[in-house]
Amino acid sequence: MTKGYLDYQSGMPVDPRVVEAMVPYMTEHCGNPAVLHSVGDPAREAVEQARAQVAALIGAEPSEIVFTSGATEANNLGVKGVAMKLRKKGKHIVSSVIEHRSVITPLKYLEREGFEVTYVPVDAEAFVDPKAVEAAIRDDTILVSIMMANGEVGTIEPVGPIADAARARGVLFHTDVVAAQAWIPIDVTTLPFDLVTLSSNDVYGPKGVGALYIRKGVRVEALIHGGGQENGLRSGTENVPGIVGFGKAAEIAKAEMQGEVERVKPLRDRLMEGILGTIADSTLNGPPDRRLPNNANIRIAFVEGESLLLSLDMEGVQVSSGSACSAKTLEPSYVQLAMGVKHEEAHGSLQFTMGRWTTEEDVDHVLEVLPGIVERLRKMSALKPGMTYDKEDFRDHGHDH
Ligand code: PMP
Repeated sequence: MTKGYLDYQSGMPVDPRVVEAMVPYMTEHCGNPAVLHSVGDPAREAVEQARAQVAALIGAEPSEIVFTSGATEANNLGVKGVAMKLRKKGKHIVSSVIEHRSVITPLKYLEREGFEVTYVPVDAEAFVDPKAVEAAIRDDTILVSIMMANGEVGTIEPVGPIADAARARGVLFHTDVVAAQAWIPIDVTTLPFDLVTLSSNDVYGPKGVGALYIRKGVRVEALIHGGGQENGLRSGTENVPGIVGFGKAAEIAKAEMQGEVERVKPLRDRLMEGILGTIADSTLNGPPDRRLPNNANIRIAFVEGESLLLSLDMEGVQVSSGSACSAKTLEPSYVQLAMGVKHEEAHGSLQFTMGRWTTEEDVDHVLEVLPGIVERLRKMSALKPGMTYDKEDFRDHGHDH
């Protein structure tokens, strides 16, 4: 089912144990957790069990977990919910240039609503400097939001010192841990995180479910109003099977995390070293250490990532490239541009992300087919050593998808 699939960051298969746990909540336990009669009881109990399982993944109390429709909604609730609650206290927020779009876009919205946002830059390996965050905090700063790890280039951010700096100034700290949560143990009893965004699919649970951890005592404004579910913070009938699946997935992730890191990291290293060692003009994006153990993001000069991606797909290998297709243009990754990667180089990036079902054969297959693909594409490519394309030139050369 997952043979050759090396795009776990974009979407993870659901663990069969998770599917098994979910099924009864679509069949015999079909009740709405809010009803008073007995058919609602199993659903209500299952949601509360899942809340405890998700809380345990990060050392939280169950009452500190709000289920949402995914990480996007959790990020919106974390960022806009705090901004709305604290707008009389201050209207300044500190974040970074490499946050996921589900943080950046709400921040852009808040800017249109009269808030000010400082987007801290990153270095060439995509690290945010805690000192830069500290320097950006002002008397009217109400929130700092920095992701725990960047899923695209793999960089693990120094969120401990960053959260300490926010706490020292009495500013709330929010972190999106989606890319990190399956790989790095998180304990909010020792880390001064006030708000944490989690995603079900990124621990092999179903898509369309997420959660926001809100530290006890921290107040946020609800964004979705209605029946008052989730303590009034997220109205709407709970996605019971999805939440049950998330709970089971979180429980498995906590129990198996260390073993998975130990199994996957050598596979990732084998792939990374194999590509960098055999393909000329290939460069690692992001740091060699302090990176997610399942991520290899590699720039291959003088070829386009999209051509590589499609050629690999024909060989049964699925990966992501350094671009995100939007309406009519093929934009290079804003994360890589922020790291100082050149426009045309960001186009030649391949993002490999591995997980629970990745095997040595998957890695060896890539190492076998990729050099030939690169050689063939380089022969055909308009990109040659010594050439640079600025943004406009690049668009003029027929890359308008
Ligand atoms: N944050 C990060 C770091 C992500 O990678 C993603 C996408 N997987 C999201 C937030 C948004 O998740 P979703 O699309 O499931 O809401």
